[in-house]
Amino acid sequence: MTTTGTKTFKNFIGGEWVDAVSGDTFESRSPATGEPIGLFPKSGAEDVDRAVRAAQAAYEDWRLEPAPKRGEILMRFARVLEREKEALTDLMTREMGKVKAEAGGDVQEAIDMTYYMAGEGRRMWGQTTPSELRDKFNMSVRVPVGVVGAITPWNFPIAIPSWKLAPALVCGNTVVLKPAEDTPLLAERFVELLEESGLPAGVVNIVHGYGETAGDALVRHPGVPIITFTGSRETGVAVTKAAADNLKHVHLELGGKNAIIVLEDADVDLAVEGILWSAFGTSGQRCTAASRVIAHEKIYDALQSKLVAAAERLRLGPGWDDETDVGPVINKAAIEKSHAYTKIGSDEGARLLTGGEIATEGDLGNGFFYRPTIFGDVDAQMRIAQEEIFGPTTALIKVRDFDEAIRVSNGIKYGLSSSIYTRDVNKAFRAMRDLVAGITYVNAGTTGAEVHLPFGGTKDTGNGHREAGQAALDVFTEWKSIYVDYSGKLQRAQIDNAAG
Ligand code: NAD
Repeated sequence: MTTTGTKTFKNFIGGEWVDAVSGDTFESRSPATGEPIGLFPKSGAEDVDRAVRAAQAAYEDWRLEPAPKRGEILMRFARVLEREKEALTDLMTREMGKVKAEAGGDVQEAIDMTYYMAGEGRRMWGQTTPSELRDKFNMSVRVPVGVVGAITPWNFPIAIPSWKLAPALVCGNTVVLKPAEDTPLLAERFVELLEESGLPAGVVNIVHGYGETAGDALVRHPGVPIITFTGSRETGVAVTKAAADNLKHVHLELGGKNAIIVLEDADVDLAVEGILWSAFGTSGQRCTAASRVIAHEKIYDALQSKLVAAAERLRLGPGWDDETDVGPVINKAAIEKSHAYTKIGSDEGARLLTGGEIATEGDLGNGFFYRPTIFGDVDAQMRIAQEEIFGPTTALIKVRDFDEAIRVSNGIKYGLSSSIYTRDVNKAFRAMRDLVAGITYVNAGTTGAEVHLPFGGTKDTGNGHREAGQAALDVFTEWKSIYVDYSGKLQRAQIDNAAG
């Protein structure tokens, strides 16, 4: 394992690596050990302004680059990511903390997304359609929006930037990226590799810094017509309000309180595996994490005892260690939040079945490790069953029948992922219809999105947009309808073709 110690990194603006105007920096540290990862520019409004101007200047030529050529650059980037997969995976275990297999999956998701979007360079279909008038041709085409302000969280530090940048770029936009302050080195490597892949100067710029300063300046900058944001609901609301005065496009991917339903006819062992992976993978820090399990009363006891036993076998440790099942949570605030919810759950009358403790034995005390935590006898209205904890905690809720299971699953403000374990095809199809969520899994946990399908959620998880798949193109382009009249005379729609 290599460390960068206290090396100072820079912003990337207009093809140059530069310090923040103020010269101030902030530090990134490993959540597993506290070791320093590096120092990064603490940017403000002036840095953001420079980056936006560089992106505006680059846009004029980038939008004219044929989309297949833009796709070829992305294709090269995908190959560079493949070459760097192992190094990025190792770095992710150190800077973000997730375990090696998951970190590799995060990087692979970026590779998959980049290849997929590279192909859009030769697709990106519009429509041609008949005109209601003679000698007239109608079509619609996608056009880029302009400078994209991309604000990303730390939990998928390579995948999420790729979800935003790959479609934004192939569609002809330029980008200013403000990555999460907890994983700046991964974001800077991402941009460095994009530069290596042949992206012209100014097409992608990175400005490090805090959300309330650098992020807010990006959201408010009049030269940025579109903000794509992934993060918490609270920040999503703040971003929407800050963008409102300029009537910006705002694309939001926010939180979740996802549930796995286990019916009485389910394969309980399979469900336990899915719950473990969905609740405790990435230490529960996924927007699609299963923080609720809704179990039919007939299998509730069996499920509970198998799940608790399996959770107690999970080994905590640093992500780069092959023996580790569950890595650290991201920072001090995250471990305090998880612990606060343990108290809230106990005070509410839920039964703490396992976990509920900060792990401090041996080297774990140097990092932010929280034991996988399961509450039983949880009422669906308790705070631990309603609020996003974003840590390794899940809540077991007992229900009497299928209808109650669906009601409980839907009875939250979020609508990201959902899941049902059953062997009854009729119930599976009813669940696919009735679960109010952007994603439904049947006989699988709540996580595991593939890049060619839309990703996002209903209700407070977002504002109606979707990331990934073809849906991403709708975020990063505007439709333009074009009418070509080759009749040589004035033809008036709705008037000259009207009957009688
Ligand atoms: P966060 O909202 O605290 O921060 C996300 C980003 O927003 C960071 O880059 C941060 O610096 C920036 N930011 C903070 N305040 C800002 C402001 N006022 N203006 C502009 N930018 C600001 O979220 P987080 O803790 O980094 O991430 C966890 C959250 O993200 C969870 O709620 C999780 O569910 C959600 N998430 C959602 C998805 C999804 O696709 N739906 C995916 C991953 C994470």
